[in-house]
Formats: sequence, structure tokens, C-alpha cells
Amino acid sequence: MIYLDHNATTPVDQRVIEVMEPYFRETFGNPSSSHQIGQKAREGVERSRIQVASFLGCGSEEVIFTSSGTESDNLAIKGFALAYKDQGDHIITSKIEHEAVLNSCKKLEGLGFRVTYLSVDKMGRVDPGEVKKEIAEGTLLISIMYANNEVGTIQPLQEIGKTAKERSIAFHTDAVQAVGKIESKVNVIGCDLLSLSAHKIYGPKGVGALYIRKGFSLSPLLHGGPHERRLRAGTENVPGIVGLGKACEIASMEMEEEGKRLRSLRNRILEGLKIDGVKFILNTPVDDPEESLPGTLNISFAGIEGEALLQALDLEGISVSTGSACESGSIDPSHVLFAMGISRMVAKRAIRISLGRGNTQEEIDKVIEILPKLVKRLIS
Ligand code: PLP
Repeated sequence: MIYLDHNATTPVDQRVIEVMEPYFRETFGNPSSSHQIGQKAREGVERSRIQVASFLGCGSEEVIFTSSGTESDNLAIKGFALAYKDQGDHIITSKIEHEAVLNSCKKLEGLGFRVTYLSVDKMGRVDPGEVKKEIAEGTLLISIMYANNEVGTIQPLQEIGKTAKERSIAFHTDAVQAVGKIESKVNVIGCDLLSLSAHKIYGPKGVGALYIRKGFSLSPLLHGGPHERRLRAGTENVPGIVGLGKACEIASMEMEEEGKRLRSLRNRILEGLKIDGVKFILNTPVDDPEESLPGTLNISFAGIEGEALLQALDLEGISVSTGSACESGSIDPSHVLFAMGISRMVAKRAIRISLGRGNTQEEIDKVIEILPKLVKRLIS
């Protein structure tokens, strides 16, 4: 099997599994217990908090653990809006956000908040000038993702962060796809809230973290015990949290080299397709390394539905995904491609290849050999 769907999830790194294992066995304690077994678990949680904080370049007291990127997004957006509702009622986000952000915003609209959904250009970029323009009386929060999950476009967050700071508006970024792939120091980005998820960076599923700049408060979504600075009730997922810390530590050491390697594998795929004369449209900006995640490639092949190509590749042992979201039985073209102004037909032809740590040059050569053949067969 050749796995090319790392933006959906990643396999857990063996080094991560090794550090997690004792926390299922001898160090199984509840980190809130005062006895030694509990305190050993607490040490694991706090060590991980330091690892995540050092990765993000923030204080460990600014990191809280959650159950997922989705929960981090929900807590950042709804938690912030509800905590500061006396000071405003307007949120600015973009049309290409993940559903975790879009549906959190929709929920807030139902509660009387106003939300502006910014358009993007044909490569999926938000214009920082548009963010500036939309700031109004009552704007509380700006939430723009760092890198898009479907097309890999990186957003100009530094410029947006600067505007947010100048206008004293809080700035959240969903960095679930960016963390571990590109530099994600919170003070470089200039964000006040940042969401991340362990399973996208070779850690376990069901664990996330939220960076909350010192001085900001949030209204908790879960009510119960006083865990995670009273912001997220519930006994901590200790093995998962320990795994997330290790995943961050590994990413900080290997990210730069790995980025170069993935970029060159991505170029290899593109070159291979060009040589074979296959007709395609690129939905990912690839000319400048600053423009997109190194391992993401969203591509529409002429004359073939993405879903049909996905199935054919799967039969050959190659896993990719489509840019489409399946809603109530009908396959609708993705909201991201739609926002980029891509026609319904081209959007339905999109497939997303997302490369990762396990992919080798030999695998990519195999993909280049198989993919054009399948494309030609499916067209004829
Ligand atoms: N945000 C983005 C950009 C994502 O790609 C994802 C997952 O695909 C999420 C949020 C949700 O993360 P999780 O799967 O941890 O809930």
C-alpha cells in the first residue's frame, strides 16, 4: 500500500508509541490524584505541555490540552466570543476554513453574532487588505486558518496578525495542517489563539491542544472538574497527551529537512505527469515554497471524476482523497474549491495527494508509473 493521504491523518510514529506505552500500563494514574502513581501521570502531562510550548515558542501555562483540533477550534471561537460578548458581536473568518471553524461560526450566528466570511483568490489566499476592510465596530475576533487542508495554500498570517494587533482584535488560527510542516511559532505568526491536533503530526487520534495568549480568557464548553485551568473539564487523556508532546519534539527536530524532502517528492510527481502528457489543472500553488504546504498537491485531471480516480488508485494500493465533501448522499464539490472560483466540473475532478514521513522515492516512482496509465484508461 502507498499511503498518500497524510492530510487526513498520519500513522503514529514508533518513537511516539514508545513514550506513550508506559502510560497505558504502570503509569496509568489519574493526574489529579495526589499519590505517586497519579503524580507520575501528572509529570507526563506537564512534560508534554512544555514540549508543545517550546514547539510553539510560548509559555507552558499558555497551552491547554483538548480532545482534537475540532475541539480546539470550537473552544477558541465559541469560548472567546461568549467570554467577550459584552465587548462586541462580530467575527471575521474565511470561506475556506475547516468545518470545525465554519460550523462554530454558524452556531454563533444562531446566538446573534455577526460573521463575515471572506472570499479568497484563485489560489485560495485571503487578502489581508480585505481583513482590514471588514473590521468594524464590534469586531471581536479574526479566525483564519494557517494552511488549507484540501489545497495546502498557506495564508499571510503575519500581515493579518499585525492588523489584529494594531486594532486590538483577538486573532485565532486553525493551524492543524500547518503545525509540524512549516514554522509555527506563535509570536512570529502574531496570533492570540492557535489550534493543533496530534494525529496530523504522527501522534495519536483524539488529542489536540490550544494555545491561549496570556491575559485572554475563554468561556469553557465543557463543565465539570477544574482541569486544564478550568477551561476544559474531564480527566486528561494522559497517553495521548504524552504522545502529542513527543510528536511535537520530533517535528521540531525534523521538520525543515522533511519539508525539503516532501517538496522534492511533490515536484517529482508533477514532473512525471508532465512527461507523460497527461492533461491536468493544478489547484495548489506550487511555484513558491512560501505559498503552500510542501507535501500537498490538489490536482484535477481532464475528463475524470476525482471519485472514480480515487477508487481506481485504491485498487492499485494507492490511497488518496478527493477534494469533495460528501453531504447527504450527494457528492458536492468542496466548499474550498468553490470559494477559489473553480468550476463545479473541475472541482469534481479534483484529487488530493498529501505526502508524509513514510513516503519514499521508490513509492513516488511507482505512483508516476501507475497514475498516468489509470488516467488514460479512465478517459478512454
Ligand atoms: N482543522 C483542519 C484544517 C483540519 O484539517 C482538521 C482535520 O482534518 C481539523 C481542523 C480537525 O482536527 P481533528 O481531526 O483533530 O478534529
